[in-house]
Amino acid sequence: MAKVAISKLEPPVDEDKVYEAVKNAVDLLGGIEKFVKPGEKVLIKPNLVRPAPPPTTTDRRVIRAVALLVKEAGGKPIIGEGTAAMTLLWREEMDSDDVLFLTGMYKIAEEVGGEVVPFDKEGKFYGRIVDVPGGVVLRKANIAEIALEVDKIIPVPVMKCSMEGGGVTLCIKDLHALVDPYTDRLKFHRSDLWQKLVDIVKVVRDKIKLCVIDGIKAMEGDGPIYGDPVDMNVILAGDDPVATDAIGSLVMGFDDPLREIGPIAIAHADGLGIGDPSKIEVVGAKIEDVRKKLKKASCEILAGIFPNIVFIEGGCCRACKAWIKFTLYALKGEGVLDKEVPKRVGKLVFIAGVDPSLPEDPKELLKIGLPIVFGDCALYSTKSTIFWQLREKAVYIPGCPPFAVGNQARLIKKAMGLPITKREAWGFLPTYTH
Ligand code: SF4
Repeated sequence: MAKVAISKLEPPVDEDKVYEAVKNAVDLLGGIEKFVKPGEKVLIKPNLVRPAPPPTTTDRRVIRAVALLVKEAGGKPIIGEGTAAMTLLWREEMDSDDVLFLTGMYKIAEEVGGEVVPFDKEGKFYGRIVDVPGGVVLRKANIAEIALEVDKIIPVPVMKCSMEGGGVTLCIKDLHALVDPYTDRLKFHRSDLWQKLVDIVKVVRDKIKLCVIDGIKAMEGDGPIYGDPVDMNVILAGDDPVATDAIGSLVMGFDDPLREIGPIAIAHADGLGIGDPSKIEVVGAKIEDVRKKLKKASCEILAGIFPNIVFIEGGCCRACKAWIKFTLYALKGEGVLDKEVPKRVGKLVFIAGVDPSLPEDPKELLKIGLPIVFGDCALYSTKSTIFWQLREKAVYIPGCPPFAVGNQARLIKKAMGLPITKREAWGFLPTYTH
């Protein structure tokens, strides 16, 4: 039977209390010596999606605690990360080494006596192409070399709701960073993303004996980046990544991970762990003592959250909707949507998916606002209508789905006649800087 331990923290939370909570949770599973043997190399994999404080990223105190425990067991802690492709390529334009530095990982390694290994540096990903055993979407994957070299991997995600990750981003989603951000990370990012996440776990499943979830400050709403912080003050540890995610999702207010969280259901079905809470032993604090009903993330809802937009939806999968949302959050943060859009173009008319229902005369769209053809499906479907008839009066954003949030926001601003500066789109987000 899979086992998950819950350790509650009493505020105010400090470094010592975090260490005690992580140690307590691991002790409830049998102690760190059960999971790490002397001399073993242990990859500690936090969630450092971009250079921002918790809950966007794992609390450094939790990573420190895990590294200390590994050291105490005689293991060699290695903190490794491959930051989001969005951070790497299209937003802050920082590589994983920058993000590891800005989030304080080098300081932890220095204090504890460990190592930091970025999965990519200066435009190069350090990986090896391997077969994915039982891979459904990914049959081969370019996996970070360090993940293949180490004896153990400990995922240490922060508790976040997620638009694309199937409701939550916990241990399974955390391991997406193991694949090449220039190829495998971008591919299969449509409705096939959940299966891809599970396929990645298949490569390293044997090395994952312990997982730790940082639930000190969780993110609710449109995570993993645009949600809101919620104090949860809880640490989870588990001996099975699927079970740890399942109990984590219950703590976050979900009721049935096998029905509500896609990657957990697929991982359970593919035999990577136990996603059924009735078959998981929970020790330590009770779920109901730490559970909060977090606001869920959604790819679906655009109107109501964003002013002055119209969405014309063809056969559109959730990925295009999620990336329209990411783009809109960037514009919303700048005040473009509420002030500039009505003044300059009326509304932003997003068109996505296969065969969207358009007016007979596509010029009618211009009476509503600025047409934005989003994603390859819509580009192909509207070629003879919007592209041939409206030409430069519309914005065209290719991709399946289009990921380049910064560029997309800039394209829309440019079409509206707004000035562009390189970093302005991101100024509203809290960011660590050099
Ligand atoms: S372009 Fe089409 S298939 Fe690709 S993510 Fe968008 S809707 Fe899905």
